[in-house]
Amino acid sequence: MKKLVLLLALLPAAALAQTNPLPKPELTEIWSPVPPKVEPGKAPGQPPSDAIILFNGRDLSGWESAKGGPAGWAVENGELVDVPKAGDIRTTQLFGDMQLHAEWMVPVLPPERKGQDRGNSGIYLQGLYELQVLDSYDNPTYVNGGAGSIYKQSAPLVNALKPAPNWQTYDIVYYAPRFYKDGTLAEPARVTVLLNGVLVQSNFPIKGPTEFRGIPAYKVHGDGPILLQAHNNPVRYRNMWVRKL
Ligand code: MG
Repeated sequence: MKKLVLLLALLPAAALAQTNPLPKPELTEIWSPVPPKVEPGKAPGQPPSDAIILFNGRDLSGWESAKGGPAGWAVENGELVDVPKAGDIRTTQLFGDMQLHAEWMVPVLPPERKGQDRGNSGIYLQGLYELQVLDSYDNPTYVNGGAGSIYKQSAPLVNALKPAPNWQTYDIVYYAPRFYKDGTLAEPARVTVLLNGVLVQSNFPIKGPTEFRGIPAYKVHGDGPILLQAHNNPVRYRNMWVRKL
């Protein structure tokens, strides 16, 4: 074998081309499995045919209080609205790896509502990892606490917000963390987020469950809900859907 390799190395390029023609194009063609067909949404952001609709625009079916019991948010104008003291709500269905689309809106708030008090909510992936919702269009706060941040972990790459009261869109690709059998972390969760179609998180390795104080630390878990944070701000959501990956 070594002699052959040596011989090939000594051959002029032209001779080598004759003895080593390019492989047939078929060599790198893959024909199966054939990807399943998915009917895309009628317009960008609309759910494709294999999406699970999280909010039906009429009532809170599929949602519950994060403390258990009925979800306390309101449904108005086909939108899901955080009402004072209602508490966090979560989907009854549980998810792991997913593509998630959500639209949210913060109404125009008085100027004294500043920083983290200006339209605060959040989408917790698997009920644990917060993608921040905030009117941080023109509202200074810590950069890893603005809209598009993985709260207290990763600032958005850019501020791609529209001013209130525009609707904002999140398109999220999320891979759940993997754990060894003994419960220790094998691979962190990873998240990619587009805010209004603009990349704000690029395959970010999540450090652990969102903590307001202190350093996050993973604990073993399985599939989890999508949780919406209540922060006594009248934040609205609509057109929320998931594709399991
Ligand atoms: Mg929040």
